[in-house]
Amino acid sequence: MRPEILYPLFAKTDSLPGVGARIADNLKKISGARILDILWHLPVDIIDRRAGPALKDILFDQIVTLELTVSDHDPVPLKSKKPYRVWCHDDTGTIGLVFFHPRKDYILTKLPEGETRLISGKVEVYNGKLQMSHPDYILPVEQRSKIPEIEPVYPLTARVSGKLMARIIGDAMKRASPLPEWLDRSLLVREGWPNWHDAMKNVHHPKSSEELHLLSLARVRLAYDEILANQLALEIMRRQTKKKKGRSLKASNIFLDIVLSNLPYELTEAQYRSIEDIKADLEKPFAMMRLLQGDVGSGKTIVALLSMLIAVENGAQAAILAPTEILARQHFISLSEMLVGTEVKVEILTGRDKGKSRERLLLDLSLGKINLLIGTHAIFQEDVIYHDLAMAVIDEQHRFGVEQRMCLSEKAKNGTGMDILAMTATPIPRTLTLTVYGDMDTSRLDEKPPGRTRIDTRVMPLDRINNIIDATRRAIAGGSRVYWVCPLIEESEVLDLAAAEERYTHLVHIFKERVGLVHGKMKAKQKDLVMKSFKEGTIDILVSTTVIEVGVHVPEATVMIIEHAERFGLSQLHQLRGRVGRGETKSSCILLYGTLGKKAEARLRIMRETDDGFIIAEEDLKLRGAGELLGTRQSGLPKFKVASLEGHSHLIPMARDDARLVLNNDPALTNERGRYLRILLYLFERDEGVKYLKSG
Ligand code: ADP
Ligand code: MG
Repeated sequence: MRPEILYPLFAKTDSLPGVGARIADNLKKISGARILDILWHLPVDIIDRRAGPALKDILFDQIVTLELTVSDHDPVPLKSKKPYRVWCHDDTGTIGLVFFHPRKDYILTKLPEGETRLISGKVEVYNGKLQMSHPDYILPVEQRSKIPEIEPVYPLTARVSGKLMARIIGDAMKRASPLPEWLDRSLLVREGWPNWHDAMKNVHHPKSSEELHLLSLARVRLAYDEILANQLALEIMRRQTKKKKGRSLKASNIFLDIVLSNLPYELTEAQYRSIEDIKADLEKPFAMMRLLQGDVGSGKTIVALLSMLIAVENGAQAAILAPTEILARQHFISLSEMLVGTEVKVEILTGRDKGKSRERLLLDLSLGKINLLIGTHAIFQEDVIYHDLAMAVIDEQHRFGVEQRMCLSEKAKNGTGMDILAMTATPIPRTLTLTVYGDMDTSRLDEKPPGRTRIDTRVMPLDRINNIIDATRRAIAGGSRVYWVCPLIEESEVLDLAAAEERYTHLVHIFKERVGLVHGKMKAKQKDLVMKSFKEGTIDILVSTTVIEVGVHVPEATVMIIEHAERFGLSQLHQLRGRVGRGETKSSCILLYGTLGKKAEARLRIMRETDDGFIIAEEDLKLRGAGELLGTRQSGLPKFKVASLEGHSHLIPMARDDARLVLNNDPALTNERGRYLRILLYLFERDEGVKYLKSG
């Protein structure tokens, strides 16, 4: 249960004064529907209104607050395009206040001739004269306190003005009461950090540009809070998994030798190393919780299979959970091939299986006649009963949540801990592994199987599209298949789709029925069908939005064309490129760009220079400035509200140690600091593990 002290923060924004349905709706688009969400909407700049120089000393483009006397009005005739001017002066000079389409009565009451007013805004020079267009504030002199000396500037959309946002956040801050201190006193003292409430006030009311900095004390404190919540949540989950007694599974290598002799290749060093890690885990009487990280094509499947066979050798069952039907099928086919000559019985179960055949399969499974089960989420449904499931592999782990992992774990016999091997092809920089996979031990396949030819990557302007079409024609004539990925337009599926459909129509015109289209709005079944035609070669060109299934293996596909590659994040480009270069034939990747900024150019250059997913992930992080979110959609990185993965990564190991220490001393978070840390978990919505704390 969420602590009561946080209720006001989780209230909807429309409970704030002056926020109706329309504004609430706009706020939702900017940050979120709850008060908490707007509080995490942090300023990106400040306006300093403290300067009040004499007119003769004003600097170009300066923001100032001036005491001026109104000399006279210089109105414009109706319908004229010229602005309305009000001339004002001080002892040293004159300035024109400029208004476009003003309400005349408004101007006359605001700026009566002969009166003195406080006027705040940005001064420009026009035709050699000072002017200020649409001052931000015009007030009687005695109301100086109504003009903020320093005003935060929020990232905005056209829908909510800066003033409105500042007011709403001000009101939201009033709902935020001080919270009990969950950080260690000595840490606070050592770092000089403010408490949570002061830090929040400070980030919303920075007094200088330095205070806006990621490394300002207030921002660092809040970032640490968030990272600590993240680490604590992961550590709770980790302990939850580890707490359960696991089975000790010893490898006897009965099947291993047969499987290895079925392979047309030798395992790489990295594959051997990972298998050794897994063997050691399985032998221990605790549940395994290991992540196998390996770039696309690094050969995770065989590692998964050899690990699962250890469970089978011990008379138990193992299962692979795949994110899509097509991936499940692919695994089924390749595992079946590798298992030829063993008596290991492998089966597949997906949402599509119904009726009698499903019943028969479930019966066999419950009797232990099936040793390995491959499938989608269908494999952990309520009525799926295993004879003795000891190990589960989760492929493309970032596509699943903690919930699904827990569901699978529940399938273990008599509440023993399930051995879990999670796999991911999303390379993550080393510094960040802890924030994403801190609850797991990790093994890395950091070496590509030998014999892979590098994918020839070229960067070209979009206006060469006709050459690309010619090249496509040649590639197809030579028996190749082509992926054609259409641009990411902002973060909108609808627009993505429009672009993809347009290109599809264009290509159908040229290549007729040899072209297919997949996009995110299609039903899974339809999508599978198109993917299948591409796999089987009934179509040669697959046009898609960025939804091409991860892990889909089409060895004949040797050309990857990406339109507007400059709009994609590095990791995303890397993932897409990994779809080709899976067969014997030399593959190529063509990155087409529209207009190139500096960063985009750097990204595309890195793509040309390296195909190492880990290097690319590091570079991606370096290049990605705060706020530039291109590519996070598929990168698998967690979304932080305050913490910046670029600027605050030094806090990660600190928070990790802190979390471990806390849980060592107070595993159920029941002592004073423990109770306050629970508030922290709820505040950052990392409370999914709290329910496990009570069970002790
Ligand atoms: P991923 O890590 O992307 O899941 P896969 O397990 O699908 O990769 O392997 C990709 C391809 O590489 C498969 O065709 C597989 O047979 C092959 N492969 C795996 N390991 C090796 C190896 N050591 N040497 C050569 N080819 C390998
Ligand atoms: Mg795979």
